[in-house]
Amino acid sequence: MTQTNFTDRPQRVAIIANGKYQSKRVASKLFAAFKDDRDFYLSKKDPDIVISIGGDGMLLSAFHMYEKYLDRVRFVGVHTGHLGFYTDYRDFEVDKLIENLKNDKGEKVSYPILKVKITLEDGRIIKGRALNESTVKRIEKTMVTDIFINQVKLERFRGDGISVSTPTGSTAYNKSLGGAVLHPTIEALQLTEIASLNNRIYRTLGSSVIIPKDERIEVVPKRQGLYTIAIDNKTMHFKNVSKIEYCLDSKKISFVSTPSHTSFWERVKDAFIGELDS
Ligand code: NAD
Repeated sequence: MTQTNFTDRPQRVAIIANGKYQSKRVASKLFAAFKDDRDFYLSKKDPDIVISIGGDGMLLSAFHMYEKYLDRVRFVGVHTGHLGFYTDYRDFEVDKLIENLKNDKGEKVSYPILKVKITLEDGRIIKGRALNESTVKRIEKTMVTDIFINQVKLERFRGDGISVSTPTGSTAYNKSLGGAVLHPTIEALQLTEIASLNNRIYRTLGSSVIIPKDERIEVVPKRQGLYTIAIDNKTMHFKNVSKIEYCLDSKKISFVSTPSHTSFWERVKDAFIGELDS
């Protein structure tokens, strides 16, 4: 847990909610609580705190809305759906959230995010950041790409695609692909295969790979065609991709530190295992 440059001026708060009835109700309650409070100033522009109401998908959207301001923004997630890895509060805990924000002294917890750089054959460069993961796929035909880790050519991959995930993203798509669950404070990237071809002729490592911070992954397509590159919940299509590079970003995502912050392993158990027989 670290401290932001907290000042006594009113905290600028942005409230972002998805279209669900429950989310709108939570948003109205928060608007009403902060509207006439001298310690807070409701502002979607240039906020100090972003409250996202919905689920993990909404928090992903809030992250992308405010990713330019990661240096100073702290996020809080209120969850009105079924599963919440980025959400510290349930919809019935709004009073607790308001009280905690009133007692807030700027403490935060921060987690690594992924930097993505796509270079096209015509020299164009597209940059992005992912909170969960980025995937590269070739839909119509087998994807054939060389995979480099820190300039070492590890393998020629053939299959549906690859995923590169952050530690907090390890419980999302990465987990469905058979990747490992990483504690979010571990500063590492995870490269996971999507349906690789493995037989006597074609070979890949087969397991997911955890890469330390400061190391880079480079994906170099060996066939021209249409590539589908996703960054979290945004999907893009590119013809003739020259390479895609991945590394940890110099910035992190920060969350308002919550006294009742649920342990990561509790969340994993709650989301994937449920109650155990005694
Ligand atoms: P969404 O909001 O419906 O999210 C899909 C599901 O993933 C939800 O149940 C959500 O709670 C869960 N999720 C999201 N981030 C998570 C995390 N860090 N840990 C655990 N669960 C998490 O759909 P969306 O808004 O399009 O979200 C995009 C995300 O969906 C992607 O970043 C990807 O991780 C995930 N996804 C998963 C699969 C899969 O598991 N087969 C396929 C595509 C996308």
